[in-house]
Amino acid sequence: MTFPEKLPIPSEVLKIAKKLEDAGFETWCVGGAIRDNLLGVENHDFDLTTAAPSAEVQKLFKRTVPVGIEHGTVAVLDGANQQHEVTTFRKDIKTDGRHAVVEFGVSLMDDLARRDFTINSIAYHPIRHEWRDPFGGEQDLAKKLIRSVGDPNWRFQEDYLRILRALRFSARFEFRIHARTLEAAKANIQGLAQLSAERVRDEWFKGLKTAARPSKLVALWWDVGAIRIWLPEMRDAGSGMRDAMKHVDKLPRDPVLITAFLAKDPASLLTRLKCSTRDIERGRAIGLWRDKYPDAKDATATRRWLSAVGDHADDLLALLPAPRSPLTQAVEKIRAANAPLTLKDLAVKGDDLIAAGVRPGPDVGEALARLLEEVLEDPSRNTKAYLLSRV
Ligand code: ATP
Ligand code: MG
Repeated sequence: MTFPEKLPIPSEVLKIAKKLEDAGFETWCVGGAIRDNLLGVENHDFDLTTAAPSAEVQKLFKRTVPVGIEHGTVAVLDGANQQHEVTTFRKDIKTDGRHAVVEFGVSLMDDLARRDFTINSIAYHPIRHEWRDPFGGEQDLAKKLIRSVGDPNWRFQEDYLRILRALRFSARFEFRIHARTLEAAKANIQGLAQLSAERVRDEWFKGLKTAARPSKLVALWWDVGAIRIWLPEMRDAGSGMRDAMKHVDKLPRDPVLITAFLAKDPASLLTRLKCSTRDIERGRAIGLWRDKYPDAKDATATRRWLSAVGDHADDLLALLPAPRSPLTQAVEKIRAANAPLTLKDLAVKGDDLIAAGVRPGPDVGEALARLLEEVLEDPSRNTKAYLLSRV
């Protein structure tokens, strides 16, 4: 692979770069968008790295957002309210595996040297059309290699999240991880325990969403030992694993769904990853119901099941082997018929029952539940006259 003469830079990004350069600050395009465009993958999200201190960036542009000001990152808003990240050249002077103290007023070379992998440390000058690639990123792109910039041991010890990033990029682009980088990832795997659950979760979810095949990402997490540390509730590499891996690649790219599918105890796993209550509940329902599908030929059983699983029906259907399983078709039919499935759908309300002589209090709830049971058996019973005749 060789560098193209020119890279098409979106006009809004170019405008920002020109303004910074005109004010006397060297400014380059860097990071993921450069990598992706060299690979022929669409990405218009060009990050800029500049000699301008953040305060100067904030002065030069009318509308900015201090998205990561302590690390020198300011987002500049364009006419369409799109954010473009502009980061001051920086290097890390102190690291503890999670956070970094950064220093500004350094060169582009220093800035590229603090980046994680060679393929992520290529810079392109959007006006002069020059390239800077001090660590051989272009060669590694051609060789399909993920390789740390500098000594992989140090680089992982500076920020252990980089181990997970290596796995994500490897699974996304189907690149090999360079032998020494992979060795260092394994040797430093215990450092992952220091990371916050939120960063690990975001990385894991992003990985599942972007992997060429999610099973590849899972295999990498197993291989380096990351599963043991962060996802111990995952099904183990036993007998059913091979089928599970084939199946995982056919699931919708929904990270919560995939994680729940892979876990022995989905709710605990999602709790460990500090997921939202809603996502944890999704996991809990999947754990609870995934071995209890009804017989699709039995319409009453299917309605009862739909009534019981509520909002989680679609997740449970998504886990079934064929995209249009008999159960999915049965559910579609029930939904199309608008069959009553919950207490809210009943043709009578609690007040109707009280008016009909049911004692206010728990009796009302019990009576409604009984009526729902009758209606699930036969939806045509859902008329006020019939239901009142039953109380
Ligand atoms: P994508 O956005 O597709 O995940 P990216 O490479 O753009 O990929 P970002 O997280 O957006 O990743 O980061 C932008 C750039 O910042 C990276 O390309 C890399 O050069 C640098 N970078 C990001 N995170 C780290 C890190 N933990 N350590 C070192 N450099 C990093
Ligand atoms: Mg990015």
